[in-house]
Amino acid sequence: MSPGPPRGEFAFIDWLRRRTPAAERVLIGPGDDAAALAAPPAPLLVTTDMLLEGSCFLLAEAGPRRVGRKAMSVNLSDIAAMAGRPLAAVVSVGLPRQGGRALAEELYLGLREAGDPFDTPVVGGDTNTWDGPLVISVTLLGEAVPPGPVRRSGARVGDRLLVTGSFGGSILGKHLDFTPRVREALALLAAAPLHALIDVSDGLAADVRHVCAESGVGAVLRAEAIPIDPAVSRMGDGRPPLEHALGDGEDFELVLAVGCEDGKPCLAAVQGLDAAPLVVAVTPALKQTAGVAADRVGASAGVTFRGERGV
Ligand SMILES: [Mg+2]
Repeated sequence: MSPGPPRGEFAFIDWLRRRTPAAERVLIGPGDDAAALAAPPAPLLVTTDMLLEGSCFLLAEAGPRRVGRKAMSVNLSDIAAMAGRPLAAVVSVGLPRQGGRALAEELYLGLREAGDPFDTPVVGGDTNTWDGPLVISVTLLGEAVPPGPVRRSGARVGDRLLVTGSFGGSILGKHLDFTPRVREALALLAAAPLHALIDVSDGLAADVRHVCAESGVGAVLRAEAIPIDPAVSRMGDGRPPLEHALGDGEDFELVLAVGCEDGKPCLAAVQGLDAAPLVVAVTPALKQTAGVAADRVGASAGVTFRGERGV
């Protein structure tokens, strides 16, 4: 803990301890100088993500419960993007002076709402109060699952790209209220050799480009195969739906590259896993030249990839 904890911090830690469920791997949870976890047999995955009020969310609009959920879920999504299993989280919070304890409790309950379905407890962290806006940073520990972890860099020429859901318009709600694809990633890992995996935070086109750049290949996305989220129809800004699907970001769906013959087993593996049926699109093969491009359908729809260069 930092020196000079804000008043009430000890009471808050007590409140946390009473609400932290026992977990198999957690030897020491919140309340001591450090948490202790039983080390997993497989390599440990570590990821962190910091959310800033005013930049990543509007507190007045989202409310603290949803902010807590998002802070946990974006990290769960990154563990899913390595095809790993989440283990435990530590959380650092900078609280604005207004709202203090009630705000902290709501954040924590949001963190738990997102973490509990994946058996991921909050095992420690730090809370401070300051004159600035809300800042919340979650560090998530996870466990690689053999033959993972799956990286971005393994896509090969001739692979297919699959996705676990639809894209675009996330600003209307999905960026706060999404289900991280942890279960889907593990089911896919068991179903077929996954060559590359990424979660879509920057936007479908940009994140496919990340896979391509790391793998040294290029890709053509078949425009009519890209699942466009129904939210796009409510954007009302006159931009082509495909442009939203390719560029909006924060969809938190997975994109995976698999061998041509492994598309079908992958589709079967994720059927029925999510409350809403998953749409999985298959694009044509990756190509040898670097970069990401739309096919003729996308090109004729006047689609441009924001943030894309040299395509
Ligand atoms: Mg990611």
